[in-house]
Amino acid sequence: MDLGAKLKERTKKMTTNILKSYITDVADFPKKGIIFKDITSLLESPKGVKICLDSLLSGLKNKQIDKVVAVEARGFFFGMLLAQSLKVPFVPVRKPRKLPRKVVSQSFDLEYGSDVLEMHQNAIKPGDKILIHDDVLATGGTAEAVCKMVESLGGQIVQCNFIMKLDFLEGVKKLAPHPIYAAISY
Ligand code: AMP
Repeated sequence: MDLGAKLKERTKKMTTNILKSYITDVADFPKKGIIFKDITSLLESPKGVKICLDSLLSGLKNKQIDKVVAVEARGFFFGMLLAQSLKVPFVPVRKPRKLPRKVVSQSFDLEYGSDVLEMHQNAIKPGDKILIHDDVLATGGTAEAVCKMVESLGGQIVQCNFIMKLDFLEGVKKLAPHPIYAAISY
């Protein structure tokens, strides 16, 4: 590995460690046995938010994005920041009966339970290049449901990005072949 690549890797590792220090582990929430990755401690730090946003943007270099699609509710924080930074529209994915116009729906399994997500039918146009964002990639069921909705409307998924991914739950496999980027991996 050349010096430039080594330096890049070291910087990425340092950034990851700094970001990890902003995440709070909460044991047995919302159910026994789950370690909840609480990002509110990250949101409280303007410095942490900047480092996280920069990391997410660094994974998008040379990629054209037309719209950012983000998942209710914790995906909205950085989803909106990403859309503003990229100067593209933000598209919310919401729980059922929250969006007022015609929607597409998709059911899916969660790490804890099952759910349905919806997005406005006219939010994506065929050929739109889409970035999907959420806070955590766990089993991948949520992001997979969003991918299915986006693709059913003709959108092309450029990348799914996350503040963090939980590698032991193998969500990356469920999202293949879509490119994944996470600022932090556990
Ligand atoms: P999954 O569909 O299993 O990939 O779960 C991802 C969704 O559930 C995301 O919207 C997360 O906000 C939430 N989630 C799953 N596991 C956790 C966790 N351990 N800590 C915080 N949020 C989680």
